Amino acid sequence: MQRTCRNAWCKQPYEVVADDLAFYDQVSPVFAGKKELIPPPTLCPECRHQKRAMLIPHLAFHERASALSGKRILSIYPESSPFPVYGIDEWWSDGWDPMTYGMPLDHQLPFFQQFRMLLSRVPRMANTNNYCENCDYCYSAGNAKNCFHCAIVHRSEEIYYSEMITGGNSNLMDCYRCQQSQHLYQCWQCISCVSSTFLKEVY
Ligand SMILES: [Zn+2]
Repeated sequence: MQRTCRNAWCKQPYEVVADDLAFYDQVSPVFAGKKELIPPPTLCPECRHQKRAMLIPHLAFHERASALSGKRILSIYPESSPFPVYGIDEWWSDGWDPMTYGMPLDHQLPFFQQFRMLLSRVPRMANTNNYCENCDYCYSAGNAKNCFHCAIVHRSEEIYYSEMITGGNSNLMDCYRCQQSQHLYQCWQCISCVSSTFLKEVY
């Protein structure tokens, strides 16, 4: 089935195939015995990707107050966000009751209207960093040290302006998707590489 993207700035043609429809049918939720069929998309794949990407607040940091303690925290969510934001340690602590935001499902109201209400009540972590040292200006960092402006950096040290850096890296800058590598600049999809620049898909 040929469709036209409903985004007024796009209007590109795209296709919805039978397998897509079968998939939407398969994942459509059932409430009180009634299947709520997910309709086929009205946006082209590229515009859908842009919409999903809007939900990933990569590398924009905001100094704001914690909704739990009022302390100043650094967060990927601005003060104007419609949901409560707690500091990372506060979010993991027992200093709040995670049962307070629960709400019963109302079968008379549209599901996504209620889902939106629920999302605006559930407290979020200021950032998703964990077990890090000096990585405040990173997003989704874990067991990392001395990293700056990275998104998804794990078990690595001295990484700058890079993304998807996982496992055993050190001294990387402007890199994407690297593992077990050291001293790289502008490398893309590399594993076990050392002292190199401008590599692409080197394993
Ligand atoms: Zn489009």
